[in-house]
Amino acid sequence: MTLLDVSGLCVRYGRIEALHDVGLQVREGEIATVLGANGAGKSTLLRTVLGAVRPDAGEITFAQQAITTLSIMQRVACGIVLVPEGRRIAISMTIEENLLLGAHRRSDRQVVRMEIDNLYDRFPNLAARRHGLAAGLSGGEQQMLAIGRAMLARPRLLMLDEPSLGLSPLFVQRLFDLIVEINRNGTTILLVEQNTAQALRVATCATVLELGRVVMSGDAATLTNHPYLQAAYLGHG
Ligand code: ATP
Repeated sequence: MTLLDVSGLCVRYGRIEALHDVGLQVREGEIATVLGANGAGKSTLLRTVLGAVRPDAGEITFAQQAITTLSIMQRVACGIVLVPEGRRIAISMTIEENLLLGAHRRSDRQVVRMEIDNLYDRFPNLAARRHGLAAGLSGGEQQMLAIGRAMLARPRLLMLDEPSLGLSPLFVQRLFDLIVEINRNGTTILLVEQNTAQALRVATCATVLELGRVVMSGDAATLTNHPYLQAAYLGHG
């Protein structure tokens, strides 16, 4: 089933056309990736799906429901969650408080506790510092916290904006392992990345944006072997 269907999306910031006639489909259960250089319009696309940016044209459908005119809060209630670029965790709050913030709409406190404890099992560094300020975490740990917090909202679609940006190779590996695991546990993922090789490795389908336009889209395996993508994005040839 198509979970997210974006069609004919146009977004302008004054004279800048950030997105032009952009279409994208994400099927339930898959990892879809959007690739492209700085300024290609990737963040704008995610922010428009979330409802933080109003499109000048186009339609967005989520789980067969037209959401183009819904507010951010209404879209979050539908199950759409964005981890923005730069993570934006609450650095003056503790790790535990950050996680509880992700779960603030839920009333099943015991299940929330269990999910937080599972996260701590997986990331002992977060556990050891759970009552310490999030500001004290490394960039990689902050990213894990941001994703953990987003997952506590139980999203149906988790959108990640350049999660690997600025992380050490070890954390990049752990991050992509986490993305795969979250997806295996049933969450659909829309992943914006400049780390093309890693993104194509975990994704089932990919869309390439250049200057606000879709220049290629298809299944990830086919795109990985495409000469243009290899030359322009994978540094081969
Ligand atoms: P990056 O990886 O640098 O975030 P991106 O692919 O996510 O790049 P966007 O951030 O969506 O691209 O930007 C697309 C275009 O829109 C760029 O030309 C950018 O300068 C412009 N832009 C983005 N946000 C705004 C804004 N709030 N006001 C004006 N122009 C903007």
